[in-house]
Amino acid sequence: MKPTRQRLRLGELLFGRGGRHVTPDMLYREVNEGGEAISRGTVYNTLHELTRAGLVRQIGVRGGMTFFDTNPSTHHHYFIDGEDRLLDLDGPGLDIAAMPELPAGYEVARVDAIVHLRRKRS
Ligand SMILES: [Zn+2]
Repeated sequence: MKPTRQRLRLGELLFGRGGRHVTPDMLYREVNEGGEAISRGTVYNTLHELTRAGLVRQIGVRGGMTFFDTNPSTHHHYFIDGEDRLLDLDGPGLDIAAMPELPAGYEVARVDAIVHLRRKRS
């Protein structure tokens, strides 16, 4: 990737404060709040290039909502319905004891789980 000024600014926002989960829209709003004029197209393209380079991981949550995770390793997530927030599921993670029989000719490449949460009703 060519390090243009716009890409460097996006990289700073993405990687400058630890692990993040952002949607293209969140990143677009953030970068433009900072006074920088960067188009939605540039934000999308940069995120997809970073994904292809293995620096971020794309996570589809539901109905076309896509997050980009600055931690590209395999890990599970919580998604908070109604707040549109994606959080890392830390700790021992999920115990998937019984894997169903797989289609013939296939093996498990990885298991990415998203546990959907909602606030308890009091
Ligand atoms: Zn994550």
